[in-house]
Amino acid sequence: MDMKVDKKLSLKDRYRHQTRGLGWETTYQPMDKVFPYDKYEGIKIHDWDQWEDPFRLTMDAYWKYQAEKERKLYAVLDAFNQSHGHLNVTDARYINAIKIFFSAFPMLEYTAHRGFSMAGRQFRGVGTRVACQLQSLDEIRHAQTQIHTASNYNKYYNGMHAFTHQLERMWYMSVPKSFFDDAITGGPFEWMVAIGFSFEYVLTNLVFVPFMSGAAYNGDLGTMTFGFSAQSDEARHMTLGLECIKFMLEQDPDNLPIVQAWIDKWTWRGTRVLALVAAMMDYMLPKRVMSWKEAWEIYFEQNGGALFKDLERYGIKVPDCVAQATVEKEHISHQLWAAMYQWNFGTAFHTWIPSPEELDWLSAKYPNSFDKYYRPRWELWAQMEKEGKRHLNTGLAQLCQVCQYPMIFTEPDDPGKLCHREVDYKQEKYHFCSDHCQHIFEREPEKYVQAWLPMPQFYQGNCGGGGVEEFFKWVHLVPGQDNMDFEGSQDQQNFARWKGMATSNQ
Ligand code: FE
Ligand code: ZN
Repeated sequence: MDMKVDKKLSLKDRYRHQTRGLGWETTYQPMDKVFPYDKYEGIKIHDWDQWEDPFRLTMDAYWKYQAEKERKLYAVLDAFNQSHGHLNVTDARYINAIKIFFSAFPMLEYTAHRGFSMAGRQFRGVGTRVACQLQSLDEIRHAQTQIHTASNYNKYYNGMHAFTHQLERMWYMSVPKSFFDDAITGGPFEWMVAIGFSFEYVLTNLVFVPFMSGAAYNGDLGTMTFGFSAQSDEARHMTLGLECIKFMLEQDPDNLPIVQAWIDKWTWRGTRVLALVAAMMDYMLPKRVMSWKEAWEIYFEQNGGALFKDLERYGIKVPDCVAQATVEKEHISHQLWAAMYQWNFGTAFHTWIPSPEELDWLSAKYPNSFDKYYRPRWELWAQMEKEGKRHLNTGLAQLCQVCQYPMIFTEPDDPGKLCHREVDYKQEKYHFCSDHCQHIFEREPEKYVQAWLPMPQFYQGNCGGGGVEEFFKWVHLVPGQDNMDFEGSQDQQNFARWKGMATSNQ
């Protein structure tokens, strides 16, 4: 009997069938009612079929690749956990960097998962929808694999027990939380610029590449393996973000000013979030790969610069905020770590003053700024510690209405002066850390007046009551155990004891 057997479809054909072939024009309801959100931002799309997803990944191929990757990742994580790999990190101070990372990132990944599901639902173009769906799946995997990676540390070290609860309650965690909240409450195209482009394309490299090599350098095999496993998805995410920008710009010239305004806003919001990574790289890694400034120069100035060059032909200009970000590469890590040190009764990790060798490293890496502005302060605080007068700042700082950092950053042309901007809006005063945060507010004031800011809320009695003790309970922070100095902490003592048990007969 003769039977006609279809030739196996190529990956490209399969992708075409699984995307373009799945869409249809609705008839029971008008398309605009089925997809109510992909027009109101003002972006004009004339032909959704022009969307090119350069990855052309089909669902079955996706499951196969990811399952393989996950198997490898969990094999390493299991081995790491069973052999007490946490005792192989350079020293227990390192774990405080992990605490910040794992407190913030898994929930952000989860928000990214929700955001891409929502964006996927809202676009009427099929290729766009499929691409968003795949990224949405990546993001929930990232949230899960990060939580699994962190769970081993959480068993042994303090401060990681309440990360979901603390995300919007802690002053330094509300910074990345507000970034993602801002993005997910935008329209679908703004979401794609905020996360798909600015976060993934311009900024993620600064988290994943130098920070993950920092993890590797400090003996943290678990975090490093997770990081490299996620990094291969990042390549796809970046392509998606860039593709979306080019698609919008090619579809209609009216899209240019809208896209430019989003790029300006999200580049600034992203660089502000990255101050957290800057402090981690310069102060929290006992063994350092490179300074924040060096990472910024390679990954933002060089790589990001090439990207903006590429977008020039569409009429996109380098955002104004880049000038200030370039000046700030000399300062932000020092300013944020000083803030963490002086307010570390309100942090779920420990801080410390850099050792004399570390101060020298910082002086060498920051010849233009460190000795002049920051070294004297650390030396003074070290002296005060020695005299039993550890410096704490018991006053709470004004928070920026947009990025939600306390006012800790300085004027771009005067590192000796705190930068503070104010705007009156409907009989209320709003405060900003910079011109750029102020401009973001002024474009959409009704959005940002709703921001929930931990420090003003504290003074209004909305953080468990009016007092510090009530605050600790409300935020699920165990004082003296989760916060304050690394020196003398339970973490430090346990690590030394366990390490001793692993290497001697005690
Ligand atoms: Fe992710
Ligand atoms: Zn700000």
